[in-house]
Amino acid sequence: MKLKIYVLTDNTASSSCKAEHGLSYLVEFDKKILFDTGQSDLFQENARFLDAPLEETGTIVLSHGHYDHGNGLKFIDNKTLICHPDAFLKRYSGHQMKYVGLNQTEEQIKQRFSVRESREPVWVSDKMIFLGQIPRRFGFEKNITGFYLENKQPDDIPDDTGLAVIMQQGLFVISGCAHSGICNIIEHARDITGIQKVYGVIGGFHLKQYNQQTIETINQFKEWGIKVVMPSHCTELPALSAFYNEFKGEQVKAGTLYTFDKLF
Ligand SMILES: [Zn+2]
Ligand SMILES: [Zn+2]
Repeated sequence: MKLKIYVLTDNTASSSCKAEHGLSYLVEFDKKILFDTGQSDLFQENARFLDAPLEETGTIVLSHGHYDHGNGLKFIDNKTLICHPDAFLKRYSGHQMKYVGLNQTEEQIKQRFSVRESREPVWVSDKMIFLGQIPRRFGFEKNITGFYLENKQPDDIPDDTGLAVIMQQGLFVISGCAHSGICNIIEHARDITGIQKVYGVIGGFHLKQYNQQTIETINQFKEWGIKVVMPSHCTELPALSAFYNEFKGEQVKAGTLYTFDKLF
């Protein structure tokens, strides 16, 4: 079975499609699901260009409750939405307390979607699993800083999670922003599925610099033997180039369909 990932929204534009700061992928394997919605209706525009089967997706997986992943929910309805219960928290960035949570309230979202909230993993299909709350295991994946809750307490984004697809080649892990740590997300996917082999990883890694965390992440990926490494969205140039030098993955661009079917 082929894994198809239609990149509906990401930070880099392609020749025919616009980009925005956000992430939205249509994932097709044994089921078609929407993973995040970006921050506007751009995901719908790019889906039309790609002829992506957006109408056939009955389930949305929300990686976490930040505007750039979930504000696109305003433009769709009548689907099942799987998310962590803390995705609806009011949350802010920086000492200026810029609002970065979802632009719809929990009540508004629950009126329009069949919401399945879970801290535990949820099987989305036979081969796809919403990972639920991610235990923070790797010491080099530092605690989150710079985000705050309404009461000004630090927000370590407990709702941040991802999706794992069980392929013949091993696990393929899809992340939103990876605030919980991309290695923590992958390790949790290995733990709950019992599958140790990791074939690929795509999405935001939340790594900005070529620093110790980026180096240790690359070392861990090598130890796992990951073949396909496609960092995007919130991964910035010094980190992106380090991953490229090591793994030679393709640059993720909005309005692109990636198909994974090679056997290694
Ligand atoms: Zn985020
Ligand atoms: Zn993000």
